[in-house]
Parts: sequence; structure tokens; C-alpha cells
Amino acid sequence: MTTKYIFVTGGVVSGLGKGVTAASIGMMLKAKGLKVIAQKLDPYINMDPGTMSPYQHGEVFVTEDGAETDLDLGHYERFIDENLNKYSNLTTGKVYWNVLDNERKGVYNGETVQVIPHVTNEIKRFIYSVGKKIAADVVITEIGGTTGDIESLPFLEAIRQVSNEAGRENCLFLHVTLAPVISSSGEMKTKPTQHSVKELQSLGISPNLVVLRCNRHIDESARRKISMFCNVSPDCVIENRDVSLLYEAPIMLEESNFSQIVSRELGLDDNPPDLTLWKGMLEKAYARDKVVTIGLVGKYVKMYDTYLSIVEALTHAGIENGAKIDLRWIDAEQITPQSAPELLGGCDGIIVPGGFGDRGIEGMVCSARYCREHDLPYFGICLGMQIAVIDFARHVAGLSDANSREFDVESQNKVIDIMEGQIGYENTGGSMRLGAYECVIKENSTLSAAYGEKSIMERHRHRYEFNNAYRDLFEEKGLCICGTSPDGTLVEAVEISGKRFHLGVQYHPEFKSRPHRPHPLFVRFIAASLKNRQDTKGE
Ligand code: GLN
Repeated sequence: MTTKYIFVTGGVVSGLGKGVTAASIGMMLKAKGLKVIAQKLDPYINMDPGTMSPYQHGEVFVTEDGAETDLDLGHYERFIDENLNKYSNLTTGKVYWNVLDNERKGVYNGETVQVIPHVTNEIKRFIYSVGKKIAADVVITEIGGTTGDIESLPFLEAIRQVSNEAGRENCLFLHVTLAPVISSSGEMKTKPTQHSVKELQSLGISPNLVVLRCNRHIDESARRKISMFCNVSPDCVIENRDVSLLYEAPIMLEESNFSQIVSRELGLDDNPPDLTLWKGMLEKAYARDKVVTIGLVGKYVKMYDTYLSIVEALTHAGIENGAKIDLRWIDAEQITPQSAPELLGGCDGIIVPGGFGDRGIEGMVCSARYCREHDLPYFGICLGMQIAVIDFARHVAGLSDANSREFDVESQNKVIDIMEGQIGYENTGGSMRLGAYECVIKENSTLSAAYGEKSIMERHRHRYEFNNAYRDLFEEKGLCICGTSPDGTLVEAVEISGKRFHLGVQYHPEFKSRPHRPHPLFVRFIAASLKNRQDTKGE
């Protein structure tokens, strides 16, 4: 079939859940039997979010093919359940980088290089390329930022051109805006939406659908005004209310017949969506009758976006285990041998997520030690695995100055060290081990029990590695090397047997967890934490 394009833009303010709206329509269309892919075009000038601070940008989501991307891609993957690729995220920086590279190579044959057509062509190349591998029926493209931003203009121009080239009937523009309610009068206001749509129209884009973020039902007068001033039919004003669980969003949007209207506007068959799996997952979520307290020990506290995929993966595993996650944010810098019992003791399990730089490291090592000594379930991810190794080296193998090269170059025992070929590139973007690699699993380990497979593929994003010079010593002392690269040279996972759960993985399992297909390691970690709660608190 002809490829259909859905463009999602945002107006009025940021943070309206544009990404979740894009992901929700993707999920519904896939449930109708279509092949769907999604991408995000980010107008900022960095090449990718890989080198941006979590304060600025939140989590960096990594794709199978090793692209460091915007966290909205995590929503797309979790909702649509389709692996995205390196065409799924594009920034102004990358566009210019590619265009200038072409210019240097003489690709433009001496032409004057301009925003139109060279920059817009490069943007369109990404839009046309993203769905090729899976022969997508529908390509969903979200434009980052808010209408009116100077830097998003070339992106809006590019999508306008796509609608001209691919045919207006094959393209749908979906504008996500806000309908504020004035508290004194209780009136829902449509003017910001009208202005925002006018701005888009001045760029040659007329939205087909307006998705209105609001905290109550849209009243008839607001619907009529938006329909009239924004030039959309009344049923194309879609209500986007707050939901308590993110995964309810598609179902809430369906109350306005969202997917049926999108199908109608795009001339797609209106097959009923098969929501068996999704609704089954929601049923399980509503039925959760247990609680499990998980401590997340990191250097960013209460920054949900920084650890977004981990928090979501915990939620998925909680749903599978019938438990709500009571997430306790623990500032790694506050943890000392003295404070550990108070800060960690009340938790049923501890997770140490990925991270960079030495702030908070000693508190994390202290947490790994406390967990190991008190048989409190410990799950270390990437940096968290390196931390488990440092604790083991210092406190079990007796190497008191053990550390990672990242935190102490002077240490005589760099049990975590730089990978060959990366020396000299420590501080540059895109120079890490990125994307999916195979990991071979040792039999009779927690890892093997969780996956039930001999070999798995997981995504990576790290620069430092377990130092093989210490392998024999640590194994002798009781550390189980439970996962390695197929040639055995890279340590991918370590655990300590005989504990409720003490496992570290060099990769990021959180990126592959789905609400209706939770990741086996998270499921097992939550099960172990629940068991611990029962054993120690009798609940
Ligand atoms: N900083 C560590 C490394 O580069 C861990 C990275 C991570 O946790 N993603 O190896």
C-alpha cells in the first residue's frame, strides 16, 4: 500500500504529551494490522542528545543499531513495540553536519547550498528512510519544540513539502495544544490554540486534527470554536485528558474515536484494533494488590525523565508481579556506612542505574556492599554493574583501592578499565560501545534462570569494561561471571550466587521492556524484592 505519513506538531506550551500522543496513535494503528514506525525531529543544534546533561534532556534512549536518541523514542518503542533505527531521531546539528559533509565532498556540484532545498532535502531523506527496513505502511513523525520556534522552521517546511510530494490524501497533520481553564470563571479557553494553528497555517500547514490537552471534558462551545477557527470538523477535536497510568492514554484518546478518525482522514481501512494484549495488561495493572519499595540510588534525585526507561521497566515488572512500585529516590551522595541502614534498610530492593562521572560513586559502592552483606536484592545496570564489581574487589577480594579508570586514574587496581581503541576519545560524543550486542549466558545462573535462553541481544552505552586481569581472582573469590560476549573476552554480567538477587549487567535491559512484555530481569528482580519484603516484613 502507499505509505501514509502522520506529522505531530505541538503548540502553546511544551510538555503536553506530544510523544505519548504520537506513540498512542502508533499503537492503535499497529493494533489495526498496519506496519508502523515512528521518528522524532528535534530542532536543537546538538548532533544528538548523547552529550547533553540529564538536567537538560533527561534519558538518552539507545536504539538497536546504536543511535543515541531522544527519550520520546522510548515511548514509541514501548507503545508501538517496534524497534526503531538511526533514522528515528534527527537534529538540526545532524542535518547540517550531513549537508556540510556533502558540500565538502562536492556532492552538490558547485551549487550554492541553501536551507531550501539542501537542508529540507536532508530532512526529507530521514522521513522517507525511516520506514524502509520494515516497509512501513504508516510513518509517524513528531516535530520537537513548539510552533513558533525559529529553529523548527526548516522542519515544518520539510513536512509541508512531503505532503505535497506524497499527496495531501496520504498525509495527516496532528496538532497537540493546550486548552487552559480559567479558575475564577471555570471557562475553557481556546484562543491559544487558535493562535497556534494560525501560526502553522501561515507556514502552509493546516492541521487535520487538533488534540487538546485539558484537565476536564471539552465543552461543546470550546469544540465548536476550535472547529470553526481552526478549520477542522468538530469530531477532529480530540480530547487528551490526564491519566493516572501512562498506558491508559490510547484508551482515553479512543473515547474521542481517535484512531477511527485518523483512519478516515488517511483513507485507511477501519479494521477494529486488536487490543487484547494491551487491555489484558491494563486489567493486570488495575488488579495490583501488593506494594514493593524499590530504592533508586543515583546522582539525580526525583528526576523521572533521567531514568525514564528504568522507571517504566520497573512498572512493567510490577504489573507482571501484581505489585505497585513505591519508588524511593535516594541521593547517592548521602549514603555512607553510617547512613546506609536508615536510607536503604526500609527498601525491598535497590537499583543502581547507569551514569557517568564520579559524583556519588562512593555512596553507590556503599549501597552495593550493604545489599550484599544484608542480602537485600541489588540490581546494577551499566554503571551499577561496575559498582558491584568495585565493591566486590574492595571488600571481598581485598583490593582496597579498587576503582574504575573513570573515577581514579591513579588507582593501582583498575578493575573497570578503558576498552582498547577508545584511549584518547574519552570525552567525545558517539565514541562509546553503542547498540545491540550478543551476550552468552552461563548455565545455572540467575541470569540464565531469568532469560531461559543461552544467548541474548541487549543494548549498550558505555565506555569502560570489566578488566579481565582480575577475572580469575574474582571467580576464585566467588563472583560469578554469568554473561560474556560470544568470544568470551568482554564481561557482560556478574552475580553472586546464593543471594536473593545480586546481579549487575553491563548493558541496558530497560530499553527492551514493554508494558505487555516486561523484561525478564526486571520481573525477577521485583519478584525477589517482593519475596524479601515477605521474609523481612511479613507482608
Ligand atoms: N560511565 C560508565 C561507562 O562509561 C557507565 C556508563 C553507563 O552507565 N551508561 O562505562
